[in-house]
Amino acid sequence: MLSRPRSTFSISSLGRTARGFATLLLAAAIAVSGSVSAFAQNVPVVRDAEIEALVRDYARPIFKAAGLANDGVNIILVNDQSFNAFVTGRRLFINTGALMMAETPNEIIGVIAHEAGHIAGGHQQKLREQLERAKTMAIIATLLGAGAIVAGATTNSRGLAGAGMGVAAGGGEMAQRSILAYQRTEETTADRSAITYLNATGQSGMGMLKTFGRFQSALSLSGAQVDPYRISHPMPQERIANLEVLVKQSPYVDKVDPPALQQRHDMMRVKIAAYMGGQAAATRLMRKSPGSLASRYGEAQLAYLYGNLAASLAKTNALIKEQPKNPYFQELRGDILMKANKPKDAADAYAKAVSLDPARSGLLPVSYGQALMAVGTPKSLKKAVVQINNGLGRDRENAEGYRYLAQAYGELGNIPAAELATAEGRFYSGDYKNAKIFAMRAQQKLKRGEPGWLRAQDIINYAPSGKIKK
Ligand SMILES: [Zn+2]
Repeated sequence: MLSRPRSTFSISSLGRTARGFATLLLAAAIAVSGSVSAFAQNVPVVRDAEIEALVRDYARPIFKAAGLANDGVNIILVNDQSFNAFVTGRRLFINTGALMMAETPNEIIGVIAHEAGHIAGGHQQKLREQLERAKTMAIIATLLGAGAIVAGATTNSRGLAGAGMGVAAGGGEMAQRSILAYQRTEETTADRSAITYLNATGQSGMGMLKTFGRFQSALSLSGAQVDPYRISHPMPQERIANLEVLVKQSPYVDKVDPPALQQRHDMMRVKIAAYMGGQAAATRLMRKSPGSLASRYGEAQLAYLYGNLAASLAKTNALIKEQPKNPYFQELRGDILMKANKPKDAADAYAKAVSLDPARSGLLPVSYGQALMAVGTPKSLKKAVVQINNGLGRDRENAEGYRYLAQAYGELGNIPAAELATAEGRFYSGDYKNAKIFAMRAQQKLKRGEPGWLRAQDIINYAPSGKIKK
């Protein structure tokens, strides 16, 4: 499932009928600097187990080569057709537009390598530290705000200035000048580091060169829209020329991505095209490789999205036959069966997806839990609670997951647990005020000192500066 927007500016609910179809548009108050900013805004985050796992697979070896993180990389997909990618600590933010534009994994891997170079080099350290402390939603709001400000679309810059972000100092022009001034050397350093990481992992720098070259030469692909990445990464001719020398010196310059990885990349692009761009966008992409696994995956997705469930199921079953261990084919099968109002069969498919998923995504158990909730027996509701909790254990910031958890507890008659789950969901979407209200309600019904009571107390005590008062 890849969630996508139904209506543009609402906090959407991923209801059963809307499965696979809703972007989490979350109103996130910016809390980076401790003061709630005036430009709380809607943040289009998309969640998808398959894409997150793939991008994590791109990032992991690079992060390791850069000495950044031994374990997981948190991937945050931003539903925006412009090109942007940004790393903070172990969180990698990447626009779906960037993934769509890249024809090969190597193009994305190169950009990740460059961003890792910024991190390892301690560039913009103050900003990054502040971002690291902040919640994911607040960061995205900040970044989107940054893009908007640089593009001259808004003049409200208090929140960003508080976050220590140079771009917020004034209007677009001034922001751009200050960025250019301090970034020139940092960009060169990050490019060099990127090549080091690519060499260490036996990968070519051609993808990075291609991506940067595109920014340097042409107008943004998205027309009038300014790509945030392009603004934050000046690409003067000299820089591209220097990079080209480094790329071509590498013994891995001609290395191409492994076919299996390219296939996953192609499937991801078709999926994004189908969900974000609709039939026309997906068909355009599929026409380039008719009959390929990615194209047939796209056909199954389109049939699902446009309500031809029987055809979609047949196509998905054929895909499963071809790749029986692919968890995302099972996930799609689950999505189709949910839409066809067959929650029991859907639950079986999701259960398979969960057991096959090497990335241990927190999303798949939540989908499994939703199917169990739809089955609706007391026994399946209890199982649903276990699965959703399992998913949230892997993925604490999944605000939507708490909504389902709250619903499942509610249907089981466990009101304090439902209220605490609601508090958690509000908390992780940046709505601290309502989080506290629900936490207090839960506390009234819980025994003082028990784990749920203590968690509620943490939420009540939470100060948006990032510290929990004791
Ligand atoms: Zn850069």
